[in-house]
Amino acid sequence: SVVPDYLTDVLGDVESDTSGEPAGYIPELAAADPERLAAVFATVDGTLHGAGDVDAAFTIQSISKPFVYAMALSDRGFDRVLAQVGVEPSGEAFNEISLESETGRPRNPMINAGAITTHSLAGAENLTPVERVDRVVQGLSAFAGRQLTVDETVCASEMENAHRNLAIAHMLRSHGILTEDPRAVVDGYIRQCSVLVTARDLAMMAATLANRGMNPLSNEQVVDGSVVRQVLSVMATCGMYDAAGDWATQVGIPAKSGVAGGLIGALPGQLGIATFSPRLDRHGNSVRGVSLFERFSSDMGLHVMEVP
Ligand code: GLN
Repeated sequence: SVVPDYLTDVLGDVESDTSGEPAGYIPELAAADPERLAAVFATVDGTLHGAGDVDAAFTIQSISKPFVYAMALSDRGFDRVLAQVGVEPSGEAFNEISLESETGRPRNPMINAGAITTHSLAGAENLTPVERVDRVVQGLSAFAGRQLTVDETVCASEMENAHRNLAIAHMLRSHGILTEDPRAVVDGYIRQCSVLVTARDLAMMAATLANRGMNPLSNEQVVDGSVVRQVLSVMATCGMYDAAGDWATQVGIPAKSGVAGGLIGALPGQLGIATFSPRLDRHGNSVRGVSLFERFSSDMGLHVMEVP
């Protein structure tokens, strides 16, 4: 196949771009090697192609959000989840303390306010915080097709500096959107963000979305097709935060970024794509990851609005 050569070439083209900075507000992430660079394609029939540091482990961070949203929709049903988290793009930063004024609902599940709420909606109503984290880690593992684990060092590092997420959770609790102890929910959400993955894992997770919720290698049906449609729609409109419009026009692939430098895209019926490069732009999206996706989209005509 010519794909690995193509990926190696494109990685070579973006390698010299050292602009941006690794996330600084989680001290342990600031210590990451900023030179790491990887790209992986996973087709819906389970074929993987990669180049660069495809097996380097990093924390999933916000890329967990669409998958945990999928779990909440599966476990609690659409009505319950939509009553507590909206689906409107906020056009704001990922950690904005912004809730709908009438209802107190977070605007969407991709910003932290929405993701903290969806964490609390994963699994059955009466789970303990530990059981809920377990449901989330098992669900993420099912999407990836292998057992994933939590990076305790990154988790502790974020927990020590979690004042903003705690503030968001207390706001949600005061509006009755969260009914549980805000500290326990933030703790669970941060554990969710601290799950270790590789670019290869993320490509498989994205391919599972592209394959209507069935992992192409394990053949496990992780969530229903109706859930995947909802999740991909929200990724398309809200996945890149306040850069969502630029992304939708220039790349045109439902996507999600994370502050450790991961980035995924899912093309329904075709392909999961993942990139990894830790330096971030001012929106918190990977600089070289965004460049890679721009290249993939234009070189291969992957924009979902492209008329064939
Ligand atoms: N754990 C991070 C936070 O809540 C995730 C943010 C991200 O990846 N954009 O701040």
